[in-house]
Amino acid sequence: MTALLEVEDLTVRFHTDEGVVTAVDDLSYRVEAAETFGVVGESGAGKSVAARSVLGLIDRPGRIERGEVRFKGEDLLSMDESALRSVRGDEIGMVFQDARAALNPVYAVGEQIAETIEHHMGYDPAAAKTRAIRLLDRVGIADPEARYSEYPHEFSGGMCQRATIAMALSCEPDLIVADEPTTALDVTVEARILELLDELADEFDVAVQLITHDLGVIAGTCDRAMVMYAGEAVETAPIEDLYYDPKHPYTAGLMSAIPRIGDGRDRLRTIPGTTPDPVDPPSGCRFHPRCPFAEEACTRTHPSLVDPETGEAATLDDDRAAACLEYTEGLSGGLDYSVEVEEPRDERAGGDPADE
Ligand code: SF4
Repeated sequence: MTALLEVEDLTVRFHTDEGVVTAVDDLSYRVEAAETFGVVGESGAGKSVAARSVLGLIDRPGRIERGEVRFKGEDLLSMDESALRSVRGDEIGMVFQDARAALNPVYAVGEQIAETIEHHMGYDPAAAKTRAIRLLDRVGIADPEARYSEYPHEFSGGMCQRATIAMALSCEPDLIVADEPTTALDVTVEARILELLDELADEFDVAVQLITHDLGVIAGTCDRAMVMYAGEAVETAPIEDLYYDPKHPYTAGLMSAIPRIGDGRDRLRTIPGTTPDPVDPPSGCRFHPRCPFAEEACTRTHPSLVDPETGEAATLDDDRAAACLEYTEGLSGGLDYSVEVEEPRDERAGGDPADE
């Protein structure tokens, strides 16, 4: 059956003075209706560029050089800007990291939501205002009728993010793309916003593509996830498999860097080194300069995404895939790690949004 969103072989390059940056390389994934799909990786992994490309929001010098993006079976990359804008407003909602910047500073927050409703759903002004107030209430903004007329600078960071979530939901989309929605917020507010997104995804029956650098965030929120490194997918899995049985050394490294309740380590373990130069990525496996299991073969052979059980090339339908030579018998020493897991982070703080 066709998934809600299907991305196949997406390649995005930026032609800069320093050289050609392949920000997203041959990326394929799917998002099913009503699921929460996480995309995780360090800065520079290509997560946000991939999401923006899907939404047609890549500006020059960026260029989608290859691939297909199908939403409900329709090819988004061949749509003209006006058709795409209508899909973005009506069927795909967006929540960005900097919520305050996403709101227009010279219009009242509620009016911005109402205007979206009028424009995309054809409501008259009074009905749009009523719906906007209801949405502000639903996302936890206290005294929504009064807050409707306030400006973004009168909202706290957490309240701005709640307002952009209300705006994203305002046209009853099938998919929300949330790009690092909590990165700018402190950890208590982050927990409340994630809890809200989770609740609303269930209530509105909407799929969420949640982009984050924090594997701990997706562990408590997502159904499935994809791990990206240097522009590529290196692992995809249902969230429990990813968390309890990561198949890629990079995922295992991210896992060991998650703070855990009761963790007695003085210092969190980190992955040594930094993400590679995107203009001149390492040969073979791009993770090899940082991988504790790298062998000579890893410097020469680029591992494809395969089913880790069979070593066969992964397809869009596969839930489990990893890109490491271990699964194509290209590694002689094998992978030797174990992951100790306590509880996924689900102890979320309650509290008053006014404190945000
Ligand atoms: S292919 Fe080699 S370098 Fe890459 S993740 Fe596997 S063991 Fe590490």
